[in-house]
Amino acid sequence: MPLADFAFQKCISPTCDFVCGCEEVRVSCPTCGDLLDIGYDWSRSQVPKSLKYFEEMWSRRYEPLRFSGIWRFHELIPFASPDLVVTVGEGQTLLQQTDSVGSYVGMKPGRLHLQYEGMNPSGSFKDNGMSAAFTHARAIGARRAACASTGNTSASLAMYCAATKLMKAIIFIGSGKISYGKLSQALDYGALTVQIAGDFDDAMARVQEVSRDLGICLVNSVNPFRLEGQKSVMFRVLEALRWEVPDWIVVPGGNLGNSSAFGKAFAELKSLGLVDRVPRLAVINAAGADTLYELFERRGLRWNGGHANMEIAHHYYNELDQLGRKANTIASAIEINRPVNLRKCLRALEFMDGVVRQVSDQEMLDAKAKIAAGGFGCEPASAASVAGARLLRDQGVISPDDRVVCILTGHQLKDPTATVAYHTTDQDKFNEVLGSRGVKRASFANRAVAVPNDLGEIVKAIQLYS
Ligand SMILES: *Cc1c(COP(=O)(O)O)cnc(C)c1O
Ligand SMILES: [Zn+2]
Repeated sequence: MPLADFAFQKCISPTCDFVCGCEEVRVSCPTCGDLLDIGYDWSRSQVPKSLKYFEEMWSRRYEPLRFSGIWRFHELIPFASPDLVVTVGEGQTLLQQTDSVGSYVGMKPGRLHLQYEGMNPSGSFKDNGMSAAFTHARAIGARRAACASTGNTSASLAMYCAATKLMKAIIFIGSGKISYGKLSQALDYGALTVQIAGDFDDAMARVQEVSRDLGICLVNSVNPFRLEGQKSVMFRVLEALRWEVPDWIVVPGGNLGNSSAFGKAFAELKSLGLVDRVPRLAVINAAGADTLYELFERRGLRWNGGHANMEIAHHYYNELDQLGRKANTIASAIEINRPVNLRKCLRALEFMDGVVRQVSDQEMLDAKAKIAAGGFGCEPASAASVAGARLLRDQGVISPDDRVVCILTGHQLKDPTATVAYHTTDQDKFNEVLGSRGVKRASFANRAVAVPNDLGEIVKAIQLYS
């Protein structure tokens, strides 16, 4: 049995009892339209008694399964048998403690950690989910896989297609919204890249229709198998903390797949008795794409045990349409106004006693410069986590003694345009890329020093500046 017979797909709505096997390809409940979860009859799988069990797997790194930072936790993501697993060695990511970024956030020494997901093979946390979605797609014999993307999902999909030759990648992107680092990956890996006239929310709507009509496997984070892989980010955080649960997980929010997956990871660990408490969750929106913040913090939308008043969201989306308001932020990876995993994220926020905040492009870019000055590069969206943690420290929600984990979702080189514009001395360049977004200054710019091509002048400049 390639797909585990104790794994199934089920509707997340407590008032709907739709359940189906994992061999079906679905991205929503056929009965009520809600999102689907992967569920397990854990009594029929092999769950370790303690998380320490996974330490034994370190000595089996010669097996691709246990080398992967996702699949070495296979017992907690057991929907497919090990021989079916698709891995390219993803998930070799580190949790690193940093006091220089910690002091910027306002933490006491030793309390701030960065989970560096940009170290994945395609340069973002998306590989965690793509490895799992691919494993599922392969198990059901899919030949084509599609996604809409602000860039990193497409880079990841294109990489898995190229590396495994199991499927053809079809990528939908909005026009002009994708950073060059990411676009270059999709093209270089050989994916069919369809640039549609519209933004990400438009691309997302179209790819769902096209996948349905052509029977193509959709691997956006509405695909519930993606989120199974993304649970492993939390397993690695716990592993690095020697199985101690931190106080806070702070994560940027775009389509809300990560935050949803983190909530599911902890819900399962708790119900399996593998952790005794759960961290609090902070989801950070960009101010220019702040749907979750608006709905959760301002309009009071709550999961409510599954009985969320979704009228609040529909009403808000109508308002956005009437005003013609589109998402707008330099953090392109989270430039999303209609997060597809909204309901799962509300559930995670309830379970993890979560909060939502928004940060400006200015705050993100300043935080990004501080992160890099601490030796950790990331792309603009990732820095929302650190900027958000700083805001929550300022507000006294996070205490300086808390143990805080910020997720750095994507690599520094994904979006060099924003980084170079931030550090530039060229005011026109700054205005073009950042000023148009309301960024006023580069508070921590490291400017290049211009010198004549003359040994004496060069020596003088070096002595002056170092
Ligand atoms: C996709 C992405 C996000 C947003 O994650 P969601 O799970 O969609 O909320 C944030 N940062 C980066 C770098 C991303 O690629
Ligand atoms: Zn349903």
